Amino acid sequence: MDERTPISDVESLSGLISLDGESAGEIGRVSEVYPFRVPRFYGGLMERENPFCPIRLQAVPTAAELEGRGVTDPLGEGRISVTPSFLKRYPGRGVFLVTAECAMYCRFCNRRRLVGRGFRPQNSREETLDYLEKCDEIREVIISGGDPLTLRPAELEYVLGRLRKIERIAVIRVSTRVPVVFPEGLERHRRAIKRHGPLWFIIHINHPREVTPEFGDAVKTLREAGAVIISQTVLLRRVNDCRHVLALLFEKLVGLGVKPYYLFQLDDVVGATHFKVRLETGIGIMRALRQSASGLCVPRYALDITGGLGKIPLENGYIRGRDGQRVFMENLYGEQGSYADDGKESRCNECGICRD
Ligand code: SF4
Repeated sequence: MDERTPISDVESLSGLISLDGESAGEIGRVSEVYPFRVPRFYGGLMERENPFCPIRLQAVPTAAELEGRGVTDPLGEGRISVTPSFLKRYPGRGVFLVTAECAMYCRFCNRRRLVGRGFRPQNSREETLDYLEKCDEIREVIISGGDPLTLRPAELEYVLGRLRKIERIAVIRVSTRVPVVFPEGLERHRRAIKRHGPLWFIIHINHPREVTPEFGDAVKTLREAGAVIISQTVLLRRVNDCRHVLALLFEKLVGLGVKPYYLFQLDDVVGATHFKVRLETGIGIMRALRQSASGLCVPRYALDITGGLGKIPLENGYIRGRDGQRVFMENLYGEQGSYADDGKESRCNECGICRD
């Protein structure tokens, strides 16, 4: 079989990890509901004998996925679709779903209702591009999916080319996990990335063991093609819910010139709630990171409120109260202090927009 063909059946999987009859049956049952796909490269990072290997946990189905908690569309994306392939929650920007395929089907994906299930956002691609050309508002487009780097090179080139022709769109972001799970899939897009830059790449990466030499090469390729690279990480129980693991991940990323941008609380997605980490644990991890890590290595910790109410930062726990103009706060080490919040009322007289 071609080395580039991902693993999506139990028999091939058993060539990578030890599976007894019971676990093989379990994987088979779960994958009838939630299919799996593991790139051979990523599969090669799994520990053969460790069922709690953090790479394996992200890639291989477990019976916990069939627990009924969580919601199908945690971000309420069905309600904010402008077209079947364009989501707009915030002013001035939106998410363009260019495919529903991914190199790997992550076991905690918040779009698992769509990914790998026959949904074809390509069918409304022209409708979305027409909308983006005609609307007068969108200035930033996040190309997502699925994973945009699983498109054929000519398709990605086409989408980027059409977007670049719209002068109003100043920023194009590309969300991808390909450099992590299938780094050999990047090279074929090098030309399009260079031609339509500068592009912002948001790489989804969750564990320091995903920072492989091949990932390092992919980052280099992107940088040489003129991309700006930031990362996002999902906080996952038993995978990375440890300050040391995350500190190492973020340090490695910064060492490669990738700025850790977001640490996301897991969305309340059905079939993945066993990966949830308690909020207070996440806040504690962020506090520990702020105590010990360089500011470059500290991402924003955020949560998308279930139902589509948008993102909120989760680290507002430092302000403890107020007495008139005196605001009381606590530092990273739990010491109490205060600040005289006695500035005059803000009133803009410069920007020319507020006065309209
Ligand atoms: S790469 Fe992203 S969209 Fe694809 S399965 Fe993983 S989390 Fe979901």
